[in-house]
Amino acid sequence: MKEKSVCIVKFGGTSVGNGERISRVAAIISDAVKSGVPYFPVVVVSAMSGVTDQLLRIAKLACNGKTEAYAQELTSLRQKHLQAAVEVTDDDKNRVALLNVLEASLASLTQDVHTLYETAQSGDVVHLRTAAVAAWGERLSVSLVAAAVNRLGTPAEPIRKEVIITSHPAFDPEQPFGVVVGADPLHVETRANAHAIIHPLVERRIVPVACGFIGRTITGYVTTLGRNGSDYSATVIGAALDCAEVSIYTDVDGVLSADPRLVANARLLASLSYAEAARLSWFGAKVLHPRTLIPIATRGIPVRVRNSFRPHIRGTSIGPVGSTPSGASAITIRRNLALVTVESTDLFGAPENAGQVFDLAARAGAAPIAICSSSGHHLSFLVDEQAAKSVVGLLQHNMDTSLWTVRCLHGLAACACIGSGFTGDPMSAARASIALASERIPVITQGASEQGTTFIVEDRSSESALRCLHRDLIAPVIPIVRHPAQEKSQRNEVRA
Ligand code: ADP
Ligand code: ASP
Ligand code: MG
Repeated sequence: MKEKSVCIVKFGGTSVGNGERISRVAAIISDAVKSGVPYFPVVVVSAMSGVTDQLLRIAKLACNGKTEAYAQELTSLRQKHLQAAVEVTDDDKNRVALLNVLEASLASLTQDVHTLYETAQSGDVVHLRTAAVAAWGERLSVSLVAAAVNRLGTPAEPIRKEVIITSHPAFDPEQPFGVVVGADPLHVETRANAHAIIHPLVERRIVPVACGFIGRTITGYVTTLGRNGSDYSATVIGAALDCAEVSIYTDVDGVLSADPRLVANARLLASLSYAEAARLSWFGAKVLHPRTLIPIATRGIPVRVRNSFRPHIRGTSIGPVGSTPSGASAITIRRNLALVTVESTDLFGAPENAGQVFDLAARAGAAPIAICSSSGHHLSFLVDEQAAKSVVGLLQHNMDTSLWTVRCLHGLAACACIGSGFTGDPMSAARASIALASERIPVITQGASEQGTTFIVEDRSSESALRCLHRDLIAPVIPIVRHPAQEKSQRNEVRA
């Protein structure tokens, strides 16, 4: 396959949430092929929305020996997919063929759930068996999407095999159920596998429809790339195929200045640099998985985030350079954090202990989310709430407690103002502090760089913090000024 002959087109769970939406997605793919876009599309899809959650519920029930309850959930999952199959096909032959494929997949899923049940009964670790169950959502949706594209006269083929080859994940009891860690894509192996699977289809102008989210370890176990990982899998596959660009279709117009579920007047951002977008997703913007840009940023492959419900909108383009320095362009919150503070008892601790502190945090599997304050004798950093206990445990166990105290403050969130040119504009930081003060939101600590300021606040105030920062830094709400005479006449109208 020639370099830059393909582009990746990824659709998230909401975009393939039911038969009608899948048909809409199929039209986007088919139009792209028929209009002769310069690059041939390789499609990557998520499970239908809610399906991965349901599969993990099924897995949990299987682990707890609740066979009747998981059977019921499997029935509802089956109905959801069969219903969508009826909606995306219009002639009997294709419908029966699709239903047969889905039934075969559902039978294999049931078998995998049963194997998980037996593994749990025998007391073995279940993380890989759970991942094998979670992987079925994507395998079911590739069949539906490919059938919907074929219906429009554009040849497409589902790829149920795993394209991404990963390292073998470790078992980590601290992780939420169903989350595997350490299944990292192996680039050389993934590249060879992706070319072997996808190249023959592209050569024949057949649209490959591949599973997001899932991979296979070198030793042959099915694995996942972590929750919401299909954005990441799209760019891993894109880099392996030397694609020209990646489009990520979702349920909003692109990357917005804040989560639109929390801020009604969030604005569409036309362009972002890789660094800004990476920061945004690191600090909680669900629209992109935090690892999405890793495989492609060093190669300068552009990403465009678009709305599958409004494909005519150009969305947000993410590339090497973003907009000109402009202060804050987006506000995000990352919740469920804890602040770990290590402090020397005599106020004169040696700075080299910072290395020991971060080593121990890494050993507990916790990358610091942000480092907030540090001096020779005082070091504060944020970790995910779920990792806090083991980080603190390791620090207390390994550091000389006659010299160091370790404290932990729970229930926090990071509220990040993201943009460029922050340090160049003395007013940005001042406006942010005033916004928080005006809502009486105490700032527990903060961190700042050229790319933005991060305020650590109590988790329960984080949504108000987000709203007031957005209001004062990005989109001032203009009060409606009414003319007194107009108000009077309106009052009279109401009385009349
Ligand atoms: P998909 O199913 O397409 O992967 P996700 O639910 O994972 O979709 O991500 C899209 C959602 O991300 C949006 O519906 C929106 O609520 C949320 N979101 C959070 N922050 C932002 C932001 N800054 N810009 C756009 N969307 C955001
Ligand atoms: N289906 C997976 C999940 O729900 C991956 C994704 O949708 O990005 O986590
Ligand atoms: Mg997503």
